[in-house]
Amino acid sequence: MEASLDTKTQKVQHRLGGSPWAGNSERQSPVFNPATGAVTGHVALASSADVDKVVRTAKEASPEWRATPLGRRVKIMFAFRELLTKNQRKLAELITAEHGKVLSDAEGEVTRGIEVVEFACGIPHLLKGEYSEAVSSDVDSHSIRQPLGVVAGITPFNFPAMVPMWMYPIAIASGNCFILKPSEKVPSAANFMAELFHEAGLPPGVFSVLHGDKEAVDALLTHKDIASISFVGSTPIAKYVYETACASGKRVQALGGAKNHMIVLPDADLDAAADAAIGAAYGSAGERCMAISALVAVDPIGDQLVEKIRERAEAIRTAPGTDDTAEMGPLVTEQHRDRVAGYLESGVGEGASLILDGRSLCGDPGFFLGPCLFDHVAPEMSIYRDEIFGPVLSVLRVPTYEDAVRLVNKNPYGNGVALFTRDGGAARRFEFEIEAGMVGINIPIPVPMAYYSFGGWGDSLFGDTPVHGMEGIRFYTRLKTISTRFADPSQGGANLGFPTND
Ligand code: NAD
Repeated sequence: MEASLDTKTQKVQHRLGGSPWAGNSERQSPVFNPATGAVTGHVALASSADVDKVVRTAKEASPEWRATPLGRRVKIMFAFRELLTKNQRKLAELITAEHGKVLSDAEGEVTRGIEVVEFACGIPHLLKGEYSEAVSSDVDSHSIRQPLGVVAGITPFNFPAMVPMWMYPIAIASGNCFILKPSEKVPSAANFMAELFHEAGLPPGVFSVLHGDKEAVDALLTHKDIASISFVGSTPIAKYVYETACASGKRVQALGGAKNHMIVLPDADLDAAADAAIGAAYGSAGERCMAISALVAVDPIGDQLVEKIRERAEAIRTAPGTDDTAEMGPLVTEQHRDRVAGYLESGVGEGASLILDGRSLCGDPGFFLGPCLFDHVAPEMSIYRDEIFGPVLSVLRVPTYEDAVRLVNKNPYGNGVALFTRDGGAARRFEFEIEAGMVGINIPIPVPMAYYSFGGWGDSLFGDTPVHGMEGIRFYTRLKTISTRFADPSQGGANLGFPTND
């Protein structure tokens, strides 16, 4: 995807020390407007020497930021929150211009990101330690959580603002310096957020944005001065990032891809289930890690449910994300659109029934594909096994609740799952036996709030620490336990025995 510089398009630079920075690499990558297919810019791709410079800058800023009083850090977080709210529309427009999602959806992702900043505004409370008086004669004990130092985050294209915001507000509020390597497909939102954070008073060097591809990622994963890596992206890269960064001695959280199921029991409200399936399968053109891509209809409701979904999917208006009437925008790149469209052929070839074929839009300018619906999908088909990451919903039919649970639990991913039912007993049993990190009961996309933690099981998460909430605080800090003795000066004498508690 590398291309030579087109002077008619903008050059997206890194952000270092609070300002734009060109870096020293000649390499760059085109940025597209997915709604038109036009190249709108070129983003710099960092070399490993560029990575080294950014890490050095962060390392220099680290001691002062770490020592900055909590009250001052919090004031900056509050100011940042205000600036984000004021600039929410502008940030959403940048997202739509490079990702393609409809503007209201882009604004929604910014709202969810701001919620993490709001959580991080509570950092004085979140970082409180523990204290025990008189654990032994004249001895008191307390534990504190301290920042790791310089930490890095590597993020995917599908949430240009929200996924980075799962990471950097918490890391920075906790006293770390953060280096963000966003997806090279959607670079501008990250730069704008960094600009706003510095406008809010963040000292230079505490938050840097470094654009790049595998070369930059590899340099981050192995850099000796980086203490932890947070990654969100596809499963093969998440696994690679986890293994490589762990081998370099880093703390790692690596969130991967997904195949999220929605099980509909016969007693469910089928209209509500169909409405929910439409939003969850086709929202953001299916480019959400929590999108529902496999709908499991428990006998005998299959025919009825598929018809309700077909009617609704057919009515979805696919158009540029800036169009007020658009419900679904284009896919992120032509290459990705063609890959997703390729699954329609393989699904039919493997024997599934293609109920709705969105390929009529493929001839339009831009990277469009309309809603697609498969029925009678079997677990061995590639359209079920692979994460397609597009507007393609597969319906599988099973005879019983037990078959549905068995199917989901056999899937290697374990990100999100939803059950639609009116039966509280079935729901309770489902919560107990389903193997996934995030579960929705009559909620198709059960994304946890900022003060809970987000993360899947199985091939959806490598390393066992999910993002944000208290797990986020723990990930970006390390525990220190301190025992203090201030003995009465009249007592003395050495003792080589094992310390006891009296
Ligand atoms: P991706 O894995 O292609 O890219 C993610 C990041 O890794 C990007 O910054 C990219 O530059 C970098 N990268 C890509 N190839 C690399 C390589 N060979 N070596 C080192 N770094 C590399 O993912 P994507 O296409 O940008 O995003 C979509 C994927 O992200 C989907 O699989 C989706 O499910 C997943 N995702 C997961 C979650 C979650 O919470 N589990 C959230 C959002 C997206």
